[in-house]
Amino acid sequence: PAISVPATRARRVGIMGGTFDPIHHGHLVAASEVADLFDLDEVVFVPTGRPWQKAERQVSAAEHRYLMTVVATASNPSFWVSRVDIDRPGPTYTVDTVRDISALRPGAELFFITGADALQAILSWKDADELFTMCHLVGVTRPGYHLSSEHLPSDSVTLLDVPAMAISSSAVRDRVRAFRPAWYLVPDGVVQYIGKYALYRG
Ligand code: ATP
Ligand code: MG
Repeated sequence: PAISVPATRARRVGIMGGTFDPIHHGHLVAASEVADLFDLDEVVFVPTGRPWQKAERQVSAAEHRYLMTVVATASNPSFWVSRVDIDRPGPTYTVDTVRDISALRPGAELFFITGADALQAILSWKDADELFTMCHLVGVTRPGYHLSSEHLPSDSVTLLDVPAMAISSSAVRDRVRAFRPAWYLVPDGVVQYIGKYALYRG
C-alpha cells in the first residue's frame, strides 16, 4: 500500500518594512489582508534603521519606532517585530532586510508587502534584481497613489486591493504637532505611547 505522506509546504512569511514613525492602521490592515489572502503563517514588521530615502527629515529614534510597532502588533499572534534593520549599522536597504529574515526562516517562502507608493520606487532600490529572486512582492492599494507593476517582473509581483485607509504617518505627526487627535488612526496603545514620550511635538 502507498505510504501516506503528510502534505507539507514551505512556511509562508510576510515582511512589512517601514519607517513606522508611527505605525498606523493602514500598515496593519495591509499586513492583515495580505496574510489572509496569501495564507501566510506570520508577518514580520521590520522598522527601518536609517531610511536612506528620508535622510532629509528628522526620524524618531529607532527604539521609539520599534516599541510602537511592538505595542501595535502585540495582540496578533501571527505578527511580530524584528530588529534586524535597526541593529544593522548604516542605511537600510530592503535587500539586506530580506536576506536577514531569510536567514532566520530557512526554506520559507517570503512575501514582501509594500504600498503603491513604495512599489513604484522599487526599481531604484539597491540590488532590486536580487530582491526579486529572494521574495515575492505584494503591492497593495493606497489612497492617493496609483498601483501599478509597470517595469517590474510580472512573475515576482502581485497587486492587491486592500480596504482604503487614507492614513499616513506624516499626517499623524502633523496632527499631534497641532494638538489634534490621533485616536482611531493608530492603535490606542500607540496614541498613549506618543503622549507618554511627547513624540512629534516639534
Ligand atoms: P510617511 O508619511 O512618514 O512616509 P507612511 O504612512 O508612508 O509614513 P511608511 O512607514 O513610510 O508609512 O510605509 C511603510 C509601508 O507601508 C510602505 O510600503 C507604504 O507604502 C505602506 N503604507 C503606508 N501607509 C499605507 C496605507 N494607508 N495603505 C496601504 N499601505 C500603506
Ligand atoms: Mg511613506
